[in-house]
Amino acid sequence: PTKPYDPDNIFAKILRGEVPCNKVDESEHSLAFHDINPLAPVHILCIPKGQYVSWDDFSKNASPEEIADFVRFIGKVARDNEMVEQGYRLLANIGKRAGQEIPHLHVHLFGGQPLGPMLA
Ligand code: 5GP
Repeated sequence: PTKPYDPDNIFAKILRGEVPCNKVDESEHSLAFHDINPLAPVHILCIPKGQYVSWDDFSKNASPEEIADFVRFIGKVARDNEMVEQGYRLLANIGKRAGQEIPHLHVHLFGGQPLGPMLA
């Protein structure tokens, strides 16, 4: 259930450089930065640079290059972080029921502590 993309969302502003972020890494089609309100010692947000609201939107409408870049990029961000050696968690909230706050696709990377069965 994908809504039209709202170019005024905060991650769009970060991508345009209108709002600062604490950048972790960047590739041609992807950006990673620290979550402003970390829920774990490592809490990084990975986003595609393209205007995609959800996983279903991205997987349907992004190019193979963008999709490959994003998948590889998330792996690199995890690999490059010493604190996630003992494991990490990827999580994407999609849509209202999942509590997606920002309508630009983002994958949370949690690590640096035992994570338990789920992270709310
Ligand atoms: P969601 O609830 O949509 O899955 O996750 C949104 C995440 O974005 C939250 O963890 C929240 O702390 C984070 N966030 C919201 N606004 C900003 C911001 O302006 N900068 C950064 N770095 N993170 C943000």
